[in-house]
Amino acid sequence: MARNPHRLIQEALFDNLGPLSARELLAMPRDGWESLRSALTDQRNGKGDLIARCAACQGQIYITTSHDRPLFAHYQGADPRCPWYSGKNKHPNDVRAKQYRGQQESVMHRRMCDLIAELAALDERCVSTMVDEYLPPTENAHGRYPDVLVEWRDFGRFAVEYQRSHTFQTELSQRCIHYNREGVPLLWLLSSFEHDRIPQAVSDVVHRHRGNAFVLDQHAIFASREENTLVLKCYLSNGDGYDSPVLTRFDALNFPDSQCPFLEDRLAGPLLEQIKQRRKPYFHALRSWGDRIDNLPVDELTSFPERKRIDRLIAAAFSIVAEAAGKPQNFASDHENIRAMMNTFQNSGSLAPYALLLTKLIENTSVCSLLKTKVGDHLRRSIEGHRKGRIEQVKERSQEWNLLRELLPEALDPFIRQRLIDADALPSWANVSDLREMQVS
Ligand SMILES: [Zn+2]
Repeated sequence: MARNPHRLIQEALFDNLGPLSARELLAMPRDGWESLRSALTDQRNGKGDLIARCAACQGQIYITTSHDRPLFAHYQGADPRCPWYSGKNKHPNDVRAKQYRGQQESVMHRRMCDLIAELAALDERCVSTMVDEYLPPTENAHGRYPDVLVEWRDFGRFAVEYQRSHTFQTELSQRCIHYNREGVPLLWLLSSFEHDRIPQAVSDVVHRHRGNAFVLDQHAIFASREENTLVLKCYLSNGDGYDSPVLTRFDALNFPDSQCPFLEDRLAGPLLEQIKQRRKPYFHALRSWGDRIDNLPVDELTSFPERKRIDRLIAAAFSIVAEAAGKPQNFASDHENIRAMMNTFQNSGSLAPYALLLTKLIENTSVCSLLKTKVGDHLRRSIEGHRKGRIEQVKERSQEWNLLRELLPEALDPFIRQRLIDADALPSWANVSDLREMQVS
C-alpha cells in the first residue's frame, strides 16, 4: 500500500466536519480513527452520511491501514490525474497534475470558506456572513473579495482569509494594507501548520500575527460548535519553536488598530523583556550608587579605560530616560534636575565628548524638546568644539556608543526602534510624538 509515500493522500476534507490531515489521522487514538473508518464505510453501504474527500481531487476516500497505522485511500475508480493517486499511472505528467491540483485546491478553498462562515454564524451576534463577495472600498479605488466577511453586532466587521499555498508576500502585504485602511480586522487562517516544517509563505503570515499561527482544525471546529462562536487553534512562537497549541475564541484576541489580531504578542513582548533584563543590573547599580560617585558595580564596565567618565555617561543617559518616562530622577549628580546636570557636565567638559551621542539619545525620546533649551545650546557648543579640534566626540562605532546602543536600543538602535514602531510597541519614553512639557531654563 505505502509503496510510494509521495502518493499518499495528505489531507482529507470531511463534509460537515472540516479538514483532517494524514498526520492528524495518525495522531488520533485508535478509537477515534476506527469510528471514522466504520462510519465512512457505513455511508458507502447506505447508512449515515459521513463523507470524506481527497483534498486534492475531491474524490471520495476511506480509511485503510498499513502496518497497523491508519491512512486515507481513494476508492476504486479515482481520478488518475490526482497527484495523490496511488494506483497505476502510466503517463505521469507533472505539469498537468499541478494545474489540476490548482483547480481542485480552489474547490477545497471554497468549502473551507463556507465552513468558516458557518461557524462564525453560530454566534448569536451574527448579522451577516459573506463568502467571496465584493467588498466595495470606502477610501481607495479598488475593492477586495475577502474570502469571508463577517459582521457581528457590537463587534463590527472582520475579514478572514484562508491561506492558499500560493499566497505569497506581495498579496499578503496588499491585503493587510487594504483591510487596515478600511478599518476591518483581518485574520489569516492557515490551511495547515506543521511547526517543524514551516514554508516561508506560512512564516510570513505568522509574523503578521506577531508570532501567532491560527488554524481551523478538528479541535477548533468542535469547540466552535460547542461554544457557538468562532474558535481557533493557535500556535504561539517561543523564539525557537512553538508552544503546545491552545484554543481561543476569535473575540478573545487582541485587535490592535493597525495590525492583524493576535492572542499574545510573541514578537515585541520577548524583545522588550530581553532589553529590560539587559538594563536591570545598571538600574540596580545606579539606584544603590547613592551619594558616592564611585565606580558602578557592573562587571561589564571594567573593560572601559575611563571608568569614572563612563559611569557618569550611563548615569546621565538613564536620567534622560527617567525624565522621558515621566519619572524624573537624576542619577548622575546632586543637581535639582537633569537640565542643570547636563549643562554643568557640558560646561565642565566631563560629558563634552559625548555631546553627539547624548543629542542622538534625546532626539529619539519624548523629551526631545530639551534640545531647544539651554541643554541643546550646551550640547551644540561641545559638538562645535569638536569641529574646531578642541573636544573629540566619540564615534558611532566606539565602545561607549555601542554600550549605550545596547542598553537603550529603543532610542539608539534604528533597527530595533523600527521593529518596535512597526509592532506598535515603542515605549512612550522613546516616542517623539509623546512630547512632555519642558520648562525653558
Ligand atoms: Zn485524490
